[in-house]
Amino acid sequence: MKNNDCDIVKDLSIQYIEDMLSSNSREFVGNHLLNCENCKKYYNDMNSNIFNEDTKEDKKDKIEINHLKKVRNHINFLKTIIISILIIIIVFIITFSIKYYNISNVINEAYNKLEYMKNLDNYKLVQETINKNFLDNSMFTVKTTYYYKDGKYKIELGDAIRYLEDDSYNKICVYNDLKQIDYYNQDFIEEKKGNTLNVFSNIKNYKTLEKGISRLGLSLREERFNGIDCYVIRRGNNNSYRDIWIDKKQKITLRMVEEEYMKYYCETIYTFSENIVKDEDVDSSILNTEKYKDYEKKNITIHDSKYKDL
Ligand SMILES: [Zn+2]
Repeated sequence: MKNNDCDIVKDLSIQYIEDMLSSNSREFVGNHLLNCENCKKYYNDMNSNIFNEDTKEDKKDKIEINHLKKVRNHINFLKTIIISILIIIIVFIITFSIKYYNISNVINEAYNKLEYMKNLDNYKLVQETINKNFLDNSMFTVKTTYYYKDGKYKIELGDAIRYLEDDSYNKICVYNDLKQIDYYNQDFIEEKKGNTLNVFSNIKNYKTLEKGISRLGLSLREERFNGIDCYVIRRGNNNSYRDIWIDKKQKITLRMVEEEYMKYYCETIYTFSENIVKDEDVDSSILNTEKYKDYEKKNITIHDSKYKDL
């Protein structure tokens, strides 16, 4: 065995370990290693060194990779939180916008309907109110019926009946319980055409809240009342509330409920009908008939505006 071969084998040992030799060189190195203890030892040392180097590199890499993973996980976690917060904010804004839009829609439709009703030439409105006072346990009910046809009114309120006309200052009050008829001459504008429907003024008030954030203080729900699908607009707090019930199809206010918890409850039910009032319903000439012949009749002329509420 030539010493020269040993030098060659040592020179080639790295390539041999990494399997980068041609088959002839490989065979030559392999054969030499089988027969030369010295080179075999050199080869073994070299082999284990290279292996150790590799695992060290691997460990270093792994530590670096782990560190990168941690940083990436951290960034992903922050991303998730930021995206979640953004989603919550967006959902919040959308929810409020939808709520605002829906309430505005209901109010606008009811308001437009009210304007339409004010211009009608023939309508009847029945208003039935129940008042309860929880403090003294008292209760009373009021029923008012308005008939309107072509500029003439009849208003029934309990035992009293009033006749009015849009184009005159005449107002006639009939008190059936007193058997008395008062003929007034004064402008009672507050009861004339369209003004009767001011009983629905809450709709108008809510309409004027349109541009204010205060409309967000209103809530909207859907419920049935007397078999009719309604929107219910509530304005309330922990002590009291006011609910306006609006017919979903007709857009007319059907009911209004106000309550101050443990103190007071008031509920009004409205029945509105178009085109059912007849001429005789609003004709005051009936007062000249036999039926009213025993009634005491008075002419009253008032010029002082402080008597306007009579
Ligand atoms: Zn050798």
